[in-house]
Amino acid sequence: MQKESLRTLKGIGEKTEKLFERAGIGDLNQLLHYYPRDYDAYEMPVPPGRVKENEKNAVFGRIVRVPSVKNYGGKSVTILQLEDETGKLQITWFHMPFLRSTLKRGGVYVFRGRVTAKNGRRNMEHPEIFTAAGYEAVEGQLRPVYPLTAGLTNKMVVKAMTQLLEERQLETEYLPEDQRSRYGLCEINYAVSQIHFPDSRDALAQARRRLVFDEFFFFLLGLARLRERTEEMENHYPMKAVWKTEEVIENLPYRLTKGQLSVWNELERDLKGRKLMNRLIQGDVGSGKTILAFLAMIQAFENGYQSALMVPTEVLAAQHYESLCRLLEENGITDACPVLLRGSCTAKEKREIYEQTASGKAKMIIGTHALIQEKVEYDRLALVITDEQHRFGVRQRTLLAEKGDPPNVLVMSATPIPRTLAIILYGDLDISVLRELPSRRLPIKNCVVDTAWRPNAYRFMEREIAAGHQVYVICPMVEENEELDCESVMEYSRKLREVFPPEIRIEPLHGQMKAREKNRIMEDFAANRIQILVSTTVVEVGVNVPNATVMLIENAERFGLAQLHQLRGRVGRGEAQSYCIFMQGNGQKEIMERLQILNRSNDGFAIAEEDLKLRGPGDLFGVRQSGIMDFQIADIYADSGVLREASEAVRELLELDPDLSLPQNLKLRQALQNYFERQNDDIWL
Ligand code: ADP
Ligand code: MG
Repeated sequence: MQKESLRTLKGIGEKTEKLFERAGIGDLNQLLHYYPRDYDAYEMPVPPGRVKENEKNAVFGRIVRVPSVKNYGGKSVTILQLEDETGKLQITWFHMPFLRSTLKRGGVYVFRGRVTAKNGRRNMEHPEIFTAAGYEAVEGQLRPVYPLTAGLTNKMVVKAMTQLLEERQLETEYLPEDQRSRYGLCEINYAVSQIHFPDSRDALAQARRRLVFDEFFFFLLGLARLRERTEEMENHYPMKAVWKTEEVIENLPYRLTKGQLSVWNELERDLKGRKLMNRLIQGDVGSGKTILAFLAMIQAFENGYQSALMVPTEVLAAQHYESLCRLLEENGITDACPVLLRGSCTAKEKREIYEQTASGKAKMIIGTHALIQEKVEYDRLALVITDEQHRFGVRQRTLLAEKGDPPNVLVMSATPIPRTLAIILYGDLDISVLRELPSRRLPIKNCVVDTAWRPNAYRFMEREIAAGHQVYVICPMVEENEELDCESVMEYSRKLREVFPPEIRIEPLHGQMKAREKNRIMEDFAANRIQILVSTTVVEVGVNVPNATVMLIENAERFGLAQLHQLRGRVGRGEAQSYCIFMQGNGQKEIMERLQILNRSNDGFAIAEEDLKLRGPGDLFGVRQSGIMDFQIADIYADSGVLREASEAVRELLELDPDLSLPQNLKLRQALQNYFERQNDDIWL
């Protein structure tokens, strides 16, 4: 699908176009590949006694008594009792008293909504209502549920998508027939239509398999291109080993672990080598990667070179900057002139920083994406480090690497992934693993509970706060959302303020806030001016507030294990005992079992292996996504089989046609370009 404006669709004007843009959909190509987050299934209706708690159900029943209408504190509540030989179910609606006359006595209806249980009594709240015939018309359908941003509704996306699929020429098949049959992949247009509006679960699974394959396939082709460019490149910045790094290590308030020492040796050897360094450090959260980055930067500095450290969030950049300044000061390194470059710097600040980096006065540069903007010029940039790499695309890595003579590259990731997958996914890098944690720390104590335990959790949090500590609460959503029954950061903060005394300051933090606002809140939290931080997963990445000892994760069932482990890594960073409470809002046994893995182990690599074993392609959507490496539809764990196949396919393809110049691969080349264009990545352009 070629680039074409959304405005060419009926019903999309300037305003709607803006809403789509905010969700990252700038043209029809991007729209087509904006996949549902989940599907709403219109299941076969069950009788009242057979509904499942904490789930959406469709229930059928005959109205025996007309509903009653009651008033609770100004709220009118319509209550219907359904009953037959299988059991009872109460159904309630707010502010809809007219239902009393709509629902006819003797009539048979289907109600579809979520069922909860209180004191043994089951209640369906605010369901949709269908006549028996009306439900029959939709039964068996799977309706797409799209990821949304403020102002953009599911209806709007469905409408645009329907038009797109009906009226446009979509894709031209780009995978050769023999490859499709070998890997059991359906045709591309079938895949894109079925992923949006599946005819059946089976069709959906097929569509997904194809799109997952393609996503890995394109990604790995990009990686191959990257490797080709960097492999065997000569190091134009030869470095000597220096005494200063030994001295810094001596002066640390702690001893480096054996693992840290051995990785440091590898780094030192790489930097001294004739070949450019291209290394990944995979180390569990809290394993102490930052100090290794700083040592490498000091080594570059002592050899007269510049180095840059790029991190995914402003908060983290500021934190690293402060630690680095402290370390330099403690070790009498006065002329490295470190600078902090962030998107939120004022124009004047930026100009000064640009000048200092271009002139070579600043020898150490820490920042966010701002580091790779065109305006930034470097002077003998010999080392580029990216921290928490899974947030950066392949492209961003190369951009920084392309400033000037190619520098040495060090990537640090806190996402332990099993070695077999790491070799494929980080195909262009040498890998060091940092497995052990500094031993002084107490292991985090964990528990998995359901929402009934909340009052206890709150009492516990209050006690920890009284002892001078701080708390993170993680919620999956930013704003309250009618369709999704999970906790939102804004609403949750309001609720917490009612529960806790006013001297405990509670603030929300989420990705849609302005950078300055986020920074201010994080600074306040770091200084213990905020005691409870209610956040989305934006805190997942690398933030270090050792005084925080409690992590409460709401709707833990909505996160992948690896992501939960990451989140948990925000606590347990100081001397005091830390705790992680996994609160789950869904009683499913299977989910409890998954969470128990985290309960038993604090070792990220072990968890990653378990995650890989546990998940198969059966877990298709939404909640199970591990969120690792930001693939759009693919999940490296659930789809590890497809990943291996795609990797094999790429190898075969490139053996025959390394630069994709054969006529038979023309369409593929075009598709690849479209793919990277969608990702705003131009490695193949
Ligand atoms: P991560 O690997 O998650 O980035 P950090 O580098 O942020 O971890 O380290 C976490 C904390 O552990 C920091 O406060 C750091 O000073 C401390 N630390 C690092 N190495 C050691 C060590 N060998 N012994 C004790 N504490 C350490
Ligand atoms: Mg870190």
